[in-house]
Amino acid sequence: MKQSCVQCPRKCGADRESGVGFCGVPWDFRIARVALHAWEEPSISGTRGSGTVFFSGCNLRCVFCQNREISRECLGKEVDADRLADLMLRLRDEGAHNINLVTPTPYALQLIPVLKKVRPQLGIPVVYNCGGYESPETLKALEGLIDVWLPDVKYFSASLAQKYSAAENYFEVACAALTEMLRQSGKPQLDENGMLLRGTVVRHLVLPRGRADSVALLEALAKQFGTDAFLLSLMSQYTPQFADASFPELCRRVTTFEYESVLNTAISLGFGGYLQSRSSANADYTPDFGEPTF
Ligand code: SF4
Repeated sequence: MKQSCVQCPRKCGADRESGVGFCGVPWDFRIARVALHAWEEPSISGTRGSGTVFFSGCNLRCVFCQNREISRECLGKEVDADRLADLMLRLRDEGAHNINLVTPTPYALQLIPVLKKVRPQLGIPVVYNCGGYESPETLKALEGLIDVWLPDVKYFSASLAQKYSAAENYFEVACAALTEMLRQSGKPQLDENGMLLRGTVVRHLVLPRGRADSVALLEALAKQFGTDAFLLSLMSQYTPQFADASFPELCRRVTTFEYESVLNTAISLGFGGYLQSRSSANADYTPDFGEPTF
């Protein structure tokens, strides 16, 4: 697998011992940031923060990515498996409500021995926070190691998925991944303080001129999965500062009309979860990565 990587739906077959594939990172862990993070959904960040581990590289590389230093430029530092386990335990000791693996997809199989070793000592949920473009076979290999699945579901239309993420089959792949996540997690389970112990939260970021696609996506998800299998987190915080100038439609914020149309669809379909207010639509919610300091 290391010399012919097919662990995500790209199945690009790259030799990640001597080079990199579409995701841009070698086989060994490369990490950009390890820190408590307050800006996830309330049932994940809680009062003390989520223990985020931001992995470098990404198998989607969306043109509007708000974490592009790590997803596209692959900024980060190599760490071995023991060091990664220590970093997770350090986050737990700092008070993290959970360990939040951010964009772990290029390292999903490499994480299995680390999680097997560290989970018994952690005592807090492990969150798999990804772009939704996941291989069901790889997710099956993680069974028993992940408590909370936190996938984006980004696009319904194949042409939009191709244009922004070079992933024409995105929606069907994301639905197959979501099916496997829901099989493993079951319905959301919260503790007495409202913190998520198990379950799946689906995130969707509304894009400028993306209203029709977002509405179609929510309708398709409701039809396929129902509206109580997962929590929906509808996000309005798209900021144009990272937009690629060759996509002029992305060089503005989402309008109130666009967001509220999607919000009203989510409400009328009966989704529950986190329907974000427009006031959080600014760049303050994007971590400043800089040089890794862990
Ligand atoms: S994880 Fe990276 S190298 Fe492996 S198949 Fe996916 S994009 Fe290619």
